[in-house]
Amino acid sequence: MAEQTIRVQLSETKKEKPKSDQLIFGRAFTDHMFVMDYSDPLGWHNASIVPYQPLSIDPSAMVFHYGQSVFEGLKAFRTKDGDIQLFRPRKNFERLNLSNDRLCIPPVDEAFALKAIKKLVSIDKEWVPDAEGTSLYIRPFIISTEPYLGVAPASHYKFIVILSPVGAYYKEGINPIKIAVENHYVRTVKGGTGEAKTGGNYAASLKAQELVSKDGFAQVLWLDGVEKKYIEEVGSMNVFFKINGEVVTPELNGSILAGVTRDSVIELLRHWNIPVSERRISMEELREAYLDGTLEEAFGSGTAAVISPIGQLTWEGKDMVINEGKTGEISQKVYDTITGIQYGTSEDPFGWVEEVEAKTTVK
Ligand SMILES: *Cc1c(COP(=O)(O)O)cnc(C)c1O
Repeated sequence: MAEQTIRVQLSETKKEKPKSDQLIFGRAFTDHMFVMDYSDPLGWHNASIVPYQPLSIDPSAMVFHYGQSVFEGLKAFRTKDGDIQLFRPRKNFERLNLSNDRLCIPPVDEAFALKAIKKLVSIDKEWVPDAEGTSLYIRPFIISTEPYLGVAPASHYKFIVILSPVGAYYKEGINPIKIAVENHYVRTVKGGTGEAKTGGNYAASLKAQELVSKDGFAQVLWLDGVEKKYIEEVGSMNVFFKINGEVVTPELNGSILAGVTRDSVIELLRHWNIPVSERRISMEELREAYLDGTLEEAFGSGTAAVISPIGQLTWEGKDMVINEGKTGEISQKVYDTITGIQYGTSEDPFGWVEEVEAKTTVK
């Protein structure tokens, strides 16, 4: 594919930026967005950065009816020198194309998408907040826009990237959460769309989430969709357990989303020579470990919070309080290291961060 140029139309007005202590996840958006169209037989074309604005889409656009869409989520961080860096962005575009493949959406050029994001962030660089723990959330997504009510892969799509400044996930250090193990609803099954980042998986998860939130649970822990025995993941996070000195996380079995944070946690643990295994783990095994005192820590991993320690798991009406409901040593160490690399205060031996060219020429 010949390299496209990115047309830029700058906004004539600048929105007021929210104060860094008033940032709510996903509520405020920056001055610009990236948009690119797909149509047969042209392929992806019309790459442009334009003022942030509503879209005009036909009501019969296929995405509204059959949910053919995928998304990604990553962040840009402001270092103390004022530079802006991304955390493992190539992993997100690799994953976007895996999701695309599952949803029959044409692939995007990963290098070009990364270039587009860097350019967009660079244009809206004043929106990357600098208060501790804040960042700029990047949301790339693709929707099918062909006006047609037939059930088939569409021939028209839009690839869009929007940016949202987000606050510190934890205001006073990382805080353990309460999780309910879901025994009735399932998120996905092997052979389904669980390993793709697609909106439908979230639509399917809302009911269980709503029911448990009434009882004060932050999220549900999903079990496998067939036997409801094996642990899969938590809401929008992958999950880890430290049992008798070994860290265990469910293997990528086809119904679990392959988190970039999950991958980073595994690499870090290996780097520190802490035993870590990706394998099948059942609730029964977890309960036994809890009862014999070898369940030492539990935590979720994802871009939004990086690490969420799990202080309590409730299964079949019984509570398991883990590590006295406090943040475990490994959870804290992994959190400190990953955030340190993201904000440039820790060394990055893995080459995980990528600088955004702040001096991108705006054509
Ligand atoms: C995005 C997501 C995650 C976490 O992935 P990261 O790349 O670490 O942010 C985990 N589970 C689901 C279902 C997700 O959609």
